Amino acid sequence: MRIRIAHLSVHDIRFPTSRTLDGSDAMNAAPDYSATYVVLHTDAPGMEGHGLTFTIGRGNEICVLAVQSLAPLVVGLSLDEITSDMGAFWRRFTTGDSQLRWLGPEKGVIHLASAAIVNAIWDLWAKSAGKPVWKLLADMTPEALVRCLDFSYVTDALTPEEAVALLHRQAPGKARREAQMREQGYPGYTTAAGWLGYPEDKMRQLARDAVAAGWTHFKQKVGAGLEEDMRRATILREEIGWDRTLMMDANQVWSVDQSVDAMRRLAAFDPWWIEEPTSPDDILGHAEIRRRIAPIGVATGEHCHNRVMFKQLFQAQALDFCQLDAARLGGLNEVLIVVLLAAKFGIPVCPHGGGVGLCEYVQNIALFDYIAVSGSLQNRVLEYVDHLHEHFIEPVVIRNGRYMPPQRPGYSIEMHADTLERYRFPHGPVWSGS
Ligand SMILES: [Mg+2]
Repeated sequence: MRIRIAHLSVHDIRFPTSRTLDGSDAMNAAPDYSATYVVLHTDAPGMEGHGLTFTIGRGNEICVLAVQSLAPLVVGLSLDEITSDMGAFWRRFTTGDSQLRWLGPEKGVIHLASAAIVNAIWDLWAKSAGKPVWKLLADMTPEALVRCLDFSYVTDALTPEEAVALLHRQAPGKARREAQMREQGYPGYTTAAGWLGYPEDKMRQLARDAVAAGWTHFKQKVGAGLEEDMRRATILREEIGWDRTLMMDANQVWSVDQSVDAMRRLAAFDPWWIEEPTSPDDILGHAEIRRRIAPIGVATGEHCHNRVMFKQLFQAQALDFCQLDAARLGGLNEVLIVVLLAAKFGIPVCPHGGGVGLCEYVQNIALFDYIAVSGSLQNRVLEYVDHLHEHFIEPVVIRNGRYMPPQRPGYSIEMHADTLERYRFPHGPVWSGS
C-alpha cells in the first residue's frame, strides 16, 4: 500500500496540572503538562500518523510554530520514500535545511518539534505494518534497523557495523524474551508519592498505596532544602521499608559541590541513584559527582538533547543510568542510536517517563531494548507516573508494578479526539471556561 502524507496539522494541547501540583519538583514548581500534538493526514482512508512532543505549558505555542516551519519537509512524501532509507531521511529532515538548522542544531525548540513529527512518522509506519512500534522494531533485521539511523558525529564511539553486531549478538533469544514480556511485563518504578508540592500526609498515603499495589522501586523529589528532603525520605523509608528501592531526583538544582554534600547526607537513606543533580549540560560535573558519591549511582538524560551529548556522557563515565527522553531527542531514530551507544558502553537504559504521553512512548523503547539490544533486565526500571493516561486511546497497562506490552498498531500515543477538542489552548472549554 502506497501512503502519501497529504498534509500536517498541529495542536496546542495543555492540561491544567498546576492546579493540583501534580508534577511539581525542585525546578518545576507548577507545570501545566502540555503537548505539541502532530497529525500526519494521508491519502489512505483512515490512516494517520500521530506524534507529540512534551512541554510544561507556556511556550508550547513556540513549539507549534516550529512544527509548522518543518512541515514542508515531510508533506508530499510517501511513507516508502521516507522508510526505504530512514537514516538519510532523518539527516535531511533535522539538519538538511541550513536556515532551520541554525535554530539548533539538533537541540532546543526546533529539535523538540522534529521529535513530534518523526515520532508521528513511526506511528504511521507501525500502523501501516499492523504492529505496535516495539514489535515493528523487534522484528526488523539488524541491518534494516541500522539503516534507520544517522551515525553523524558518533562513529568514534559506535560504527554502523558495530551496531549491527550488537543486534546480532542478542538475536537468538528474541522470541523467548518477547514471550516473557507478554506474560510478565517490563519492571517499572513510581514517582507517585514523591512530588515536592504534595503535603507530607498525602505523600505518606500515596507511598502506602503504592506498596499495596505491588511497586518495589520508588522515587523521591529532592532539592527543596536538606532538612525537608531528609524528613520526606524518613517518611518514605517508614512506608516502603529497606528492602524496597529508593531513588532521588534533584531536577538540576545543585552545583557540583552541593550535589556531593547533599548526597553524602542523604546517603543515610540508601538511595540507589541521584537523578539530574546539576546542570544537564555539565558532562564533566556529572563525572565528578559520580566519582565522589559512589556507590550511589548518577542518573541523567531527560534534558539531554542529542546523541552527541549522550556519547560524551558515556565516554566521560559520567552516568550509571541513561534516562533518554522519547521527545527531547529528535524522535525514535535518535533514541535508537542512544540505546545502541548505551549497550556499547554497558550502561542500562531507564527512559524518562511521566509528563503527558512519555510513559506511552517509552514502554515501546524499553521493550525493544530488552528484546533486541540488551537482553537484560538487570539495573533497568521504567519510570511510571499515573497522570493523564485516560486521554490516550491505548493507555499504559500496569500490573504489579510492571508495564504490560501495548497491543495496538502504532506508537501508543494517539489521543482521543474529544481530548484534542477540550484541552485546546487557549480556546478549548477547559481553558476558556465555556
Ligand atoms: Mg527526573
